[in-house]
Amino acid sequence: MSEDANYKSELVGVFGHPVAENPTIVMIEAAFRDLNLNWRYLNIEVLPEDLQTAVVGLRSMQFKGINLTIPHKVNVLPVLDRLAPDAKLMGAVNTVRREGDLLIGENTDGKGFLRSLRDDAGLDPSGKRVVFLGAGGAARAMAIELALTGAESILIINRSAERGESLSRLIKENTSCESEYLPWVSGVSFPSDTDVLVNATSIGLFPNVTEKADINYDCISRDMVVCDVIPNPPKTPFLAEANARGARTLDGLGMLVYQGAIAFRMWTGQEPSVEVMKEALESVFQ
Ligand code: NDP
Repeated sequence: MSEDANYKSELVGVFGHPVAENPTIVMIEAAFRDLNLNWRYLNIEVLPEDLQTAVVGLRSMQFKGINLTIPHKVNVLPVLDRLAPDAKLMGAVNTVRREGDLLIGENTDGKGFLRSLRDDAGLDPSGKRVVFLGAGGAARAMAIELALTGAESILIINRSAERGESLSRLIKENTSCESEYLPWVSGVSFPSDTDVLVNATSIGLFPNVTEKADINYDCISRDMVVCDVIPNPPKTPFLAEANARGARTLDGLGMLVYQGAIAFRMWTGQEPSVEVMKEALESVFQ
């Protein structure tokens, strides 16, 4: 055996249920190979009742970190040592990183969205008026991050009043951003002075690729940036409507890659190639 032999990989991965179809592994492993890092990303099936022991296992096996997906993003909170302030406000964690022996909860979804807005659409969100369709986990992470970064106002349009009102209240009570809730009626209209419109619902996700949000698309103008969270397929009917009206559009693939790149940097301390990660994902998406 040579003196510098090292057959031990550093470990990260994702806890979920179900977890088999989670594609994050494809982009993270591509980035490991690209940087010649002896790291592995594992998709690990964890039942809700086993989450606590799984987290204890992370410590014993010295994982460098972990992603959380459905149904663990909220339930993991009490098992962690510390939460980043934004993750605490959202009440959800999608990434755990290690700081010495401490397990720190982070949420990179909203940060990935902000990076996509800045880098791909060239838009600085501070002072902007934003409209969200949806008030689920993704909307929560994105809206809170936008509010913390200085957006002027956020209008939440959601089917369930309870979820919509609760997100709007969370923003108003904890940030300097204005926020209101608007019930989602069929063909709902939104203000013409909107700067950014975001579909943060699951409408359009594979295999329901022909579905689109039931809104008044004539409210979209060419001055708006229109974003979709759906990463697969990234070209959604929602974005096609926005393109047809001359608006700039941002797909969900960029956000997915950037949120993964931010977690990658938290774990490894290295900057991955977002191009390599995006190509890897595109090779497996429809
Ligand atoms: P949730 O289940 O937490 O929320 C779903 C949201 O969509 C709710 O607001 C729900 O409204 C709304 N919704 C669903 N169907 C309809 C419909 N037919 N009409 C109106 N509203 C509807 O899911 P998440 O927030 O976690 O995820 C949402 C989407 O975002 C998923 O498709 C996911 O793949 C994607 N995503 C993408 C990421 C990326 O990086 N690109 C990151 C995270 C998520 P209601 O409250 O009324 O039920």
